Amino acid sequence: MKYIVSYQNPNNHYIDIEFIIDKIDTNTIEVQLPAWRPGRYELGNFAKNIQKWDAFNANGKKLNSKKVKKDAWRIETKNTAQVHIKYNYFSNEINAGSSYLDDKQLYINGVNCFLYLKDRQDEACELELQIPKNYTIATGLNKKSKNKFTTKDFHELVDCPLIASNSLKHHTFNESKVKFHIWFQGECKPDFKKLEVDFKKFIKQQVKAFGGFPVSEYHFLFQILPHRTYHGVEHSNSTVISLGPSYDIMRTEGWYNELLGVSSHELYHTWNVKQIRPIEMLPYDYSQENYTELGYLDEGVTTYFGDKFLLTSKVFDWTQYSKTFNQLLERHFNNFGVNNYSVAQSSFDTWLDGYVKGAPGRKGSIYTEGALIAFMTDIFILQNTNNKKSLNDVMKILYNDYAKKGKGVSDKGYKSVIEKVSGASYSNIYKNYLHGTKDYSSILKASLKYIGCDLEVRAADNFNESWLGFKVRYENGQCKVDNIFPQSLAEKSGLSINDEIIAINGCKVSGDIELWCNYYKDSEIALSVKRELGTITKVIFKKSKKAIGFSSYKIVKKNENENYKQWLKV
Ligand SMILES: [Zn+2]
Repeated sequence: MKYIVSYQNPNNHYIDIEFIIDKIDTNTIEVQLPAWRPGRYELGNFAKNIQKWDAFNANGKKLNSKKVKKDAWRIETKNTAQVHIKYNYFSNEINAGSSYLDDKQLYINGVNCFLYLKDRQDEACELELQIPKNYTIATGLNKKSKNKFTTKDFHELVDCPLIASNSLKHHTFNESKVKFHIWFQGECKPDFKKLEVDFKKFIKQQVKAFGGFPVSEYHFLFQILPHRTYHGVEHSNSTVISLGPSYDIMRTEGWYNELLGVSSHELYHTWNVKQIRPIEMLPYDYSQENYTELGYLDEGVTTYFGDKFLLTSKVFDWTQYSKTFNQLLERHFNNFGVNNYSVAQSSFDTWLDGYVKGAPGRKGSIYTEGALIAFMTDIFILQNTNNKKSLNDVMKILYNDYAKKGKGVSDKGYKSVIEKVSGASYSNIYKNYLHGTKDYSSILKASLKYIGCDLEVRAADNFNESWLGFKVRYENGQCKVDNIFPQSLAEKSGLSINDEIIAINGCKVSGDIELWCNYYKDSEIALSVKRELGTITKVIFKKSKKAIGFSSYKIVKKNENENYKQWLKV
């Protein structure tokens, strides 16, 4: 299998791809374009970016072909041993999992744009890039010669994104016998010295936790954008992280902690999901949905450990770490969907709307719920083993006894390993919290107490949140209702999620509804709101003696007890 990538005019964002298939001995073949990409468990429908598509034999004669599915083509190959498919791909989206072309860079996630044959995915692949001479290529791909790469199969080809440019910034260092590369593309001023110091710390901890790293070289590929963005995608020997704005990524009081957070998270994926894989995704079937309930393991455990290793490696102090934990708490307690869908069901449904808010009160987040339940599971194991074992021992077993032996992990398999390590029944957490929607605040509080921490709950600062029961977001200069607390005044008064608030008691609102609500807290409040259909309605809040609304959540370390020290141990 060979792929040749070139382009004519970088500013029309079309890349040209030639896919050469040989050793054909059938009358027809069917080629497929991936419908989704690992790391984002929803359909991507990448075929919408293909403008031109034709198949030829080795002599350049056009072959009969027909599109048979939204992303599959059948080609007549009678008496034809070799087929050249020439197509183009519109590459004008830039995030951690997309493809992009302009006059400064060629950025490819092969899973967006490389065709494959379902029954020949295990064959070796070759990739050739026809790019400007002065371009450098940042990638985890195995280099054969300048601009030419080989992979052992299609899976490896599409698991190695690449950035080719003459403006890449590059730094390497060794840690735990592994060579690490940090690449930056886009306007930015990376402080490599600072990055190396921090990265070495959390890498060392993670490698120690698993007792080894799955690959001998690893690449962090940063796509830095001028606007605010935060997105990472994991791969076997690399990650793409898209962050912005440029001026904020190295500032501790800006996005630097987010840069560390997402980098630690993506590195943990090198084991958890790239090696330790849900059984339903081994191997990946790129042509359709790969349903799994294990999002709480893939993303939840990764979120939990990604942050925890920043604390144990002292990259984050307690204040910085607790901020990440508090964020999880806020997200959990303010999402009423957790009472409706379990985290396992929410994982199954990422294929529908896992990455957007979706219908209010419908589902939970595999990241948030998964991470908090991972924390409770960690404490559950510590408690049952006199602090001798932890969730890390479970992950080590999944890596050594499952991943390294080519075995996928099932939902029940995960439970049985936890029970083996803890010597106790995990049924309560499994049944009620992973697969059920029972309120887990009391077990969460008890788990925090175990390591000397309290869960502090206070009424939210703003009157509109704590007393009236609604939160807002500001987008495109509009003030929109983002969330409504059940049974609150806001709900009773008939306010709707997504209502645009235009005025309060006749005064125009412009990015300051919270201040206005605080100002009017002793009077009756009338909000003028604009609805989806353009109608303008008045929502009147009668004065109330009792507040039913949002709270704020915080963990507070009361004492550094022995359990806390054991919890931190790697
Ligand atoms: Zn992740």
